[in-house]
Amino acid sequence: MSNKDTTLAPADSNRLFPNIRIVLINTFHPGNIGSVARAMKTMGLSELYLVAPKQFPAEEATTMAVGADDILASAKVVNTLHEAIDDCALVVGTSARSRANPWPVKTANEAAQQIVAESKTQQAAIVFGRETMGLHNDELQRCNVHVYIPSNPNYKALNLAAAVQIICYEIFLAGGTKSDYKQQVTEYSTKKDMDYFYEHLEQTLRDIGFIIKAHPGKTMLKLKRYFNRTRPELLELNMLRGILTAIQTAAHKKPKHDD
Ligand code: SAH
Repeated sequence: MSNKDTTLAPADSNRLFPNIRIVLINTFHPGNIGSVARAMKTMGLSELYLVAPKQFPAEEATTMAVGADDILASAKVVNTLHEAIDDCALVVGTSARSRANPWPVKTANEAAQQIVAESKTQQAAIVFGRETMGLHNDELQRCNVHVYIPSNPNYKALNLAAAVQIICYEIFLAGGTKSDYKQQVTEYSTKKDMDYFYEHLEQTLRDIGFIIKAHPGKTMLKLKRYFNRTRPELLELNMLRGILTAIQTAAHKKPKHDD
């Protein structure tokens, strides 16, 4: 090899983004899992999570991965989306459909800039749905941001691995570009922190009679949508937890009416 070679690979070019994971939910065709591994490896991504795949490990996956079978070998197979994203501070959901519920939607490029910047200090996940049905609404509601890859309005859905390839390519580009985004990086709550917060919020709302056991309605769903969209920072979430505790203390102190 010539000393003049300016395209020398970084020390570990197979693992350029150790804090960014690709999460596939209920993948039906094992060949798609292999193609995803290949798409990831070409762009220096390595962390693959498979939520209840129909069939894995599978010969077809290894065949389609070609030289990326190391990604398959280290893939983590889990039963639920929770297990795949619990320790993540940023979760990005991908969807070919526009939903009734408004949510912040970014382009692949915008999302990639954010993911690369934040993953320098925190875990980030990009979630991909089923070949047939995409992501369910409750899964999309666990995400901070949605990404839509612009496509033919009459034929919007890309093949799963093609969608992964586009997102990973944008991440690869974003990883190489200088950005002042870094200065804005703040410490966000993980999904686990958010789950504890939601439990605390629901309990408090029950304690003060805002949510009535017999008619819980959609209060929690709406509040979750609100808080996931605003995305509290860790310090803000801790303050909210403190407020809830104060409300609970005050509510328990209040003298009960006789009637
Ligand atoms: N019929 C499904 C399509 C699923 S395609 C649906 O209506 O949602 C499989 C997965 O690839 C999707 O869940 C999503 O993660 C990704 N995907 C496909 N096309 C996409 C697009 N245009 N933008 C963003 N993600 C896309």
